Amino acid sequence: MAKTVIPLNELRTSLAIPAARPAGAAGLADTRGRGLRDLRISVTDRCNFRCVYCMPKEVFDADYPYLPHDEVLTFEEIVRIARAFNAAGGIQKVRLTGGEPLLRRDIERLVRLLREALPGVDLTLTTNGSALKAKARALKAAGLDRITVSLDSLEDATFRAMNDADFPVAKVLEAIDAAAAAGLAPVKVNMVVKRGLNDHQVVDMARHFRGTGHVVRYIEYMDVGSTNGWRMDDVIPSAEVIRRIHERFPLEPVGARYPGEVAKRWRYADGGGEIGVISSVTRAFCSTCTRARLSTDGQVYTCLFAQRGYDLKALVRGGAADEALLDAIRGIWQDRSDRYSEVRTAETAASRKVEMSFIGG
Ligand code: SAM
Repeated sequence: MAKTVIPLNELRTSLAIPAARPAGAAGLADTRGRGLRDLRISVTDRCNFRCVYCMPKEVFDADYPYLPHDEVLTFEEIVRIARAFNAAGGIQKVRLTGGEPLLRRDIERLVRLLREALPGVDLTLTTNGSALKAKARALKAAGLDRITVSLDSLEDATFRAMNDADFPVAKVLEAIDAAAAAGLAPVKVNMVVKRGLNDHQVVDMARHFRGTGHVVRYIEYMDVGSTNGWRMDDVIPSAEVIRRIHERFPLEPVGARYPGEVAKRWRYADGGGEIGVISSVTRAFCSTCTRARLSTDGQVYTCLFAQRGYDLKALVRGGAADEALLDAIRGIWQDRSDRYSEVRTAETAASRKVEMSFIGG
């Protein structure tokens, strides 16, 4: 793949923050009537894996312009912004992600601060599992509710071909066990399915996690960022994933737990548990998307496939009062109109977008 160095300056040209209007009777809503329910926070743009579909080694090498320390939001800034989001929209779920969130020093302290600030929210984290075994108990003790661990294969060779980091599968499996033992069960296990790379592992993953209580979520390979060389031909549609698993272990659909649940749930007919599929490419769920994303350097993005964000860090560091911060979030959300996955074309897929490691997966 040709090396593409992302011109960070360009990506950091922020959008002007729209003025807030009074909320309607149903509360805060965007131009398509979608509420603000979920906040994803990227706590670092760095990762120790080089997944070929996310942070390919050719691009994210020693010369890559990661954010300098002073541009990264502090824990106190993150908590202040999260509180403001909650006050503006009534946040139900916060997910810490990245980059690899467990690389951020003292991440347990951030979990504790968020737990104290937002006692009612579902507090979750997505990790590659490499540092989870050592941290699972501390994360649970700090107030984390649940965890998602990414694992793309049960075979070391295939796993290595995907994460390009030579990390053994056995250690991720140990981390999943440690998380469950610490009380973070059921663990969700994210598997990105890429044709010709790991799709032969779809049924093996189902077999391995059946009966454990953990839930494998098969994710369609997406055209996030600008560096992974995405092609539609590499996507295995979720319908195909379900068909393959169903042939071996009969499945039946399960209703959504709440409107707008992203993963479509299926259960094994024999009671062996559940799986989920996330079909961002073949069955876009923009119409029910209630997620905002806070990047490592304090930009707000209202879509995973966005090209620009809104600079909240400038407000926070510029001494804005809480009410001004709240108004900014209201204005950003009320102005939101994106529905990228509904209108995806080969052209938009090739356009420059913010990297997932920066915006938070
Ligand atoms: N480092 C953590 C991890 O590995 O889980 C958190 C960040 S990662 C960006 C979050 C999730 O996004 C992972 O489950 C990863 O597999 C998924 N992801 C990354 N790039 C993707 C892509 N191109 N298509 C689909 N999922 C992707």
